[in-house]
Amino acid sequence: MSKASFDFDLIVIGAGYGGFDAAKHASEHGLKVAIVESREMGGTCVNRGCVPSKALLAASGKVRELADSAHLSSFGIHAAPVRFERQKIADHASNLVATIRNNLTKTLERSGVKIIKGQGRIEGVQKVGVREINGIDRFLTAKDVIIASGSDPFVPPGIQTDGRTVFTSDQAIDLEWLPRWIAIIGSGYIGLEFADIYTALGCEVTMIEALDRVMPTFDLDITKLAKRKLIDSRDVDCRAGVLASKIVPGCPVKIELSDVKSRDIVDEMEVDAVLVATGRVPTTQDLNLQSLSIETNKGFIPVDENMRVLINGDKIPHLWAVGDVTGKLMLAHTAAAQGTIAVDNILGNTRSIDYRSIPAATFTHPEISSVGLSESEAKDLASKDGFELGIVRSYFKANSKALAELEADGLMKLLFRKDSGEVLGAHIYGLHAADLIQEVANSISRRQTVLELVNEVHTHPTLSEVIEMAYKQAVIQMKSNSGK
Ligand SMILES: Cc1cc2nc3c(=O)[nH]c(=O)nc-3n(C[C@H](O)[C@H](O)[C@H](O)COP(=O)(O)OP(=O)(O)OC[C@H]3O[C@@H](n4cnc5c(N)ncnc54)[C@H](O)[C@@H]3O)c2cc1C
Repeated sequence: MSKASFDFDLIVIGAGYGGFDAAKHASEHGLKVAIVESREMGGTCVNRGCVPSKALLAASGKVRELADSAHLSSFGIHAAPVRFERQKIADHASNLVATIRNNLTKTLERSGVKIIKGQGRIEGVQKVGVREINGIDRFLTAKDVIIASGSDPFVPPGIQTDGRTVFTSDQAIDLEWLPRWIAIIGSGYIGLEFADIYTALGCEVTMIEALDRVMPTFDLDITKLAKRKLIDSRDVDCRAGVLASKIVPGCPVKIELSDVKSRDIVDEMEVDAVLVATGRVPTTQDLNLQSLSIETNKGFIPVDENMRVLINGDKIPHLWAVGDVTGKLMLAHTAAAQGTIAVDNILGNTRSIDYRSIPAATFTHPEISSVGLSESEAKDLASKDGFELGIVRSYFKANSKALAELEADGLMKLLFRKDSGEVLGAHIYGLHAADLIQEVANSISRRQTVLELVNEVHTHPTLSEVIEMAYKQAVIQMKSNSGK
């Protein structure tokens, strides 16, 4: 097919952050682009994820702060008992969603992207089928196709949801009511963020985690410190190493807990509500991937580092996938980065993704963040490549700004190569950890060493000096190691 005979240069399936960035970037570079979206523009992040959850965290965080009379009285401040209106907090989140969705849609329209509302699917090489909202089914051709169909909440077998008493984050972001006692299944970042919201608003939380410790995906030292504040000091009870094997919605909600190994029932609970936060699954079931014999990995689409879709390791020409559907670091900024990288490759500018420099954050109060390798990954790399791993810890309690805020509970752990000083990873818990991590992410992206970074001047007094202290300690460790 000649270029002129295609309907579009690029068709993107899915208008979440991955699809949005890809479509905008392509259109700005002169390509004729269509984006197909079956639900709301903006995908999970804008409608059911980052945006509304951060709005709820912002509002509930203020309630927590104003209700913490012990903390306030340390400053000599005595506030009246705090009152809040649940519906207005919920409205703050939904208004923000509407504003951002509107802005994003207008941006695409202004960039000249054709928005098609309907369900997209692959119909062979360079062919896309679309079932439009009005029921009309049509076929479109494009020189290149990007799949950006995202992900949906995973609900394990045995758990029934009704959207009202047993629900996922898709409904939790509506904050329709505040249960007196809520069980949260899963202690990953979504479970932790909602535990932060619910406890700030006066709910009692029980966290149920199948793995043998809560917060299993976080660094061990960070978990130890963060757990004290985020879980132990709040109205949160934890059950680790047990499976919520059966949940029946109702009033009350009935939960059956089983031993992870034997599957024997070990306990039963009755609560007012359950939030199921047990991870996410790729949205690939209606994409007709079999038309190109694409074999997924548990639903995730295999891609190379340039975002080309692979079959048995071979690249499929003109087909790309980006975002959660690829299963790599399922975050909005990963999806966006993958989207622009796919388009740059389509434009002939070879680019690949560097997952090591992509940061992740949990927006609890205080926040948790990380970038690069975990300690165990760094240890494995050290033994494989034959270098000594350096680890330093820098504490917020030695930081003037944190002390001035009376928020000195925090830690940064820095992982680096003792031979070259290259920064391999960082894990932070403390005030504004989500903002702080970016500095380290940029250093990792440039593969910089602590020897280069140690001379960078940091503003005083700021939390960024926690990072400066880590770099200084790392250099001291390198020098004492080499006997200098
Ligand atoms: C509660 C929660 C909080 C989160 N907080 C953060 C955060 O703070 N920071 C962060 O970085 N990430 C966060 N995330 C993750 C983030 O939302 C996702 O990583 C991101 O949305 C992935 O973008 P995507 O473009 O890959 O997919 P999605 O945003 O899921 O978008 C995919 C789109 O494709 C559409 N689609 C699917 N199939 C078809 C089809 N066949 N035809 C047409 N359209 C289709 C869907 O309707 C959807 O709109 C959060 C997620 C949740 C659930």
